[in-house]
Amino acid sequence: MKIVLFGPPGSGKGTQAELLKEKEGFYHFSTGDFFRQEIANQTSLGKKVQHYLEKGLLVPDEIVIEIVEAFLKENCDKKIVFDGYPRTIRQAISLDQFLEEKNQKVNFCFLIELAEEEIIKRLTSRRVCENCGAIYNLNFKKPKIENICDLCGGQLIQRKDDNEEVIRERITIYYKDTAPLIAYYEQKNKLYRINGNLY
Ligand code: ADP
Repeated sequence: MKIVLFGPPGSGKGTQAELLKEKEGFYHFSTGDFFRQEIANQTSLGKKVQHYLEKGLLVPDEIVIEIVEAFLKENCDKKIVFDGYPRTIRQAISLDQFLEEKNQKVNFCFLIELAEEEIIKRLTSRRVCENCGAIYNLNFKKPKIENICDLCGGQLIQRKDDNEEVIRERITIYYKDTAPLIAYYEQKNKLYRINGNLY
């Protein structure tokens, strides 16, 4: 079983993917988390992609596709929830082709919808644990102790790309490059829309 979760930044993809991991045993594969880890470890890939993440631009398809294919070569038989991938039509076609070669497919694509002003409100108040990646929100999901992760005691930080200017850039790119995936998955009868305001 393969699930694709997509939607604008801040729509709750990461939160929902974690729930699928906890409750249904899915492997949560987030390309964004993967890149942030590479950047934190200062690897050559991390250095290559850092400025794209800081500016809110998409990492070029060739780089992303190579990483996902390497991941799938090892993990193709698992139940996987893709969080933040694919993000362009080219990535989606490449994922379908790769899975087809392995007699697999994307079973469901969930689109989490959220209005722009709500996105900005949520992302400017989002905090993440620097240690375990748990996600908090100063408005509706506060940690018990200020700036400390409830789960592991790690320090909560604000993602560098969660400032208003970069958020607006990410939203623009979402509508330009990623929203065409709605029609792509709709045509394949795989698209299910979810109201992101409920979560
Ligand atoms: P969000 O959905 O909130 O923008 P992510 O963690 O999914 O956050 O992505 C953060 C950044 O990582 C993106 O702005 C982009 O620079 C990069 N990125 C993640 N996934 C992809 C992808 N599939 N294609 C290109 N760039 C990506």
